[in-house]
Amino acid sequence: MGRDQRMRQALELLLTELRTRIDRHPWAHLIADRNERVALELALPLTDHEGQMLQAVAKIDRELQQALESILAHRAAFQPGKVFCLRCGRADCGHGAPVDARHVFTGLSPTGQPRFADLGQWLLERQDPRVDQLYDESAPPLACVVSAEELTGSLLPSFRDGATGFRLHGEVVAGWFRLPDPRGRPSALAVSLPIISSQPRGSRRRFGLNVLGAGPAGESLEHLYDRLGAIPWTGPVRWAQSVLDQIERSSGRRRGSGPLPQRRIEGLLGGLARRLQRGERARQRRTVHAQQRHIEGDRPTRMALADLARAGEEDLLFDRRRKTLIVLGERGRAHVFSPAGRLVTSVRYAPAAIERKRQLGIWLKASPRQVEVLRRTLAAD
Ligand SMILES: [Zn+2]
Repeated sequence: MGRDQRMRQALELLLTELRTRIDRHPWAHLIADRNERVALELALPLTDHEGQMLQAVAKIDRELQQALESILAHRAAFQPGKVFCLRCGRADCGHGAPVDARHVFTGLSPTGQPRFADLGQWLLERQDPRVDQLYDESAPPLACVVSAEELTGSLLPSFRDGATGFRLHGEVVAGWFRLPDPRGRPSALAVSLPIISSQPRGSRRRFGLNVLGAGPAGESLEHLYDRLGAIPWTGPVRWAQSVLDQIERSSGRRRGSGPLPQRRIEGLLGGLARRLQRGERARQRRTVHAQQRHIEGDRPTRMALADLARAGEEDLLFDRRRKTLIVLGERGRAHVFSPAGRLVTSVRYAPAAIERKRQLGIWLKASPRQVEVLRRTLAAD
């Protein structure tokens, strides 16, 4: 037997052993047809002393088992589209995925069960002042970073970690993405992008970025991808995964429990949120330009002037964030003026959206001075 043949035979024997162990494992289906590699550290004794040989065999046995457990545990903890449910110890128990297209992942219950909520409702409860953006069809999607503490803060100690060393490192939730449903009608949906990691005992920590969401009318995300081809968050998600791979590589050089690269992950989440918002903002600018062309440049339209003329005190508002003046007309018509009296845009809002902006204090009553300046500027035009 030649040298190459002997080495090949040795490798094949090890592989046979590994495959046998995989086949007997209850989580084996998770790595079927996956491109995984197992790295082993071999220590070969040069003497044929029986005791040393036994030690070497025991070491390879441990190495094989740990490598296998590590891959399987990571795959069990990380299943695309599902959060690992610490209560059930698996991701496919039915608790791990949103059932509604508008739902986002909001964290783990005290016993480790994933929770989901309507993005709009959840932002209202957090008193996020940007909630009105959600209901403004011309606004870009909103992206929000949720910290690891917020996701897992109420988890009871006895439900933490477990055999997989599962951790949630924070997430980005974003919405609404307005995508066509199977009949072509625009439908609002939200997406959650949590970063998780797993680390079974004795092996390195592995990271993954998950994508959680449901399509319109109960459609799965896989279906949605198939149907639409391009999904607005694909680019940002690819970018985030590549950064995460770098983070994993640099933290993986240390075996065992080095400090978690939480700082870098927080930076990554911020970058992901910015990218999700920026990607759509380009489209938003075009929309505003189109609206401006439609209303003949930035000279106030007759409709805007007429609405201003008949506006009562209640209909004259100041947008605290954008520093603009709002003139409300009939049926949700709203004209947005710059402080210099230029018409920025005219849009239509649902009554509920107007009410929300008032309630959240985003739109305040305009001061008599602001109204006077606006009226005077427009009269001089
Ligand atoms: Zn469960």
